[in-house]
Amino acid sequence: MTSKVYYVRTGAGDSTQTVSDKLGLLIDKSSVLSHIKKDDFTAIKMHFGDKGNTGHIRAEWIRKAAKRVKDITPNAFLADSNVIYKASSRTNSVDHLKIAYEHGFNPENVGLPVLIADGLRGRNFIEVPVSGKHFSKIKMASDFADCDSLLAMTHITGHILTGVGGAIKNVGMGCSSRRGKYEQHCGAVPEVDASHCIGCGKCVLICPAGALKLKMKKIEIDKSTCLGCGECAVVCKTKAIEIRWSETLENLQEKMVEYAKGIIDSFRSKVGYINFLIKVTKDCDCLAKDDPRIVDDLGILASNDPVAIDKASVDLIKSSGGKDVFTAGYPETNWSAQLKYACMMGLGSLEYIMEEIS
Ligand code: SF4
Ligand code: SF4
Repeated sequence: MTSKVYYVRTGAGDSTQTVSDKLGLLIDKSSVLSHIKKDDFTAIKMHFGDKGNTGHIRAEWIRKAAKRVKDITPNAFLADSNVIYKASSRTNSVDHLKIAYEHGFNPENVGLPVLIADGLRGRNFIEVPVSGKHFSKIKMASDFADCDSLLAMTHITGHILTGVGGAIKNVGMGCSSRRGKYEQHCGAVPEVDASHCIGCGKCVLICPAGALKLKMKKIEIDKSTCLGCGECAVVCKTKAIEIRWSETLENLQEKMVEYAKGIIDSFRSKVGYINFLIKVTKDCDCLAKDDPRIVDDLGILASNDPVAIDKASVDLIKSSGGKDVFTAGYPETNWSAQLKYACMMGLGSLEYIMEEIS
């Protein structure tokens, strides 16, 4: 099977308005919104960028796209889910919304409401089935699971763990709940070092399994009852409880793909994908810094196939960079594992035809 990928070029000199216009043109000339039906609850999956990050998709670029979706359904909204990294400003919905608004993703600026899809503390999920070698069910952020259709808007970057972060990652990791993210990254009992514990008891209160207790004001964990949800590691600020990043990089990619498969199947494939190859950086938008670009700005891609759009994105970037910039950034990560496994799982095709729109 060969999939269609649409491409519009952008350049470093393009104004915000020009990028927005080009995205509008790409949408009008492709079939990327064809899956969205009248009155659908449609989430536009974004990464709003962490505090200090300036590489994320600009809110002003997507105004026109947001209007196109809203013209189809009044029930559209921008969304993301909470993360597991303690250092992030996106570990709960209040902080997450604040940073989204700060970065311009607010109803006044974009014309759509904004939702954090897994609840105040990232604990709301719905289990959906998947037939993979790692999982038979996955923990999808509940508000994504309640939607009828999805549009994944992805800023392509390198990634410290997966080598490349594209549409597959945006859906697989980004639409999962925090427990889902945790089980993709490790799924193991967290590391406990009681010598750092100050006895505040926050982890005891938050633990859903009752696996933690304080003894003489020092934390103790009952490994036999721990669910491996990672909530305690997020809430502990003294490094007494830490996530055990134990997963191999290839397994992590496979788990992420299985999550993407379960999520996309739950939408009965009513998902469209737009990838931004603008300000492509070595690190992802979770990192609070303004990385330099690793290739010149290339443009925006659209497709109904997550594998084809990620493959086409990587091919364009490699060709523009004159080398595999992702492997150069993270030599220990075989980023192509996610694409091969996604193809094997039936998520899409590595073969594509690209149509340039001008
Ligand atoms: S949150 Fe951290 S410091 Fe507080 S009781 Fe738990 S382990 Fe100790
Ligand atoms: S990982 Fe989850 S279940 Fe296990 S001790 Fe921490 S909060 Fe409790």
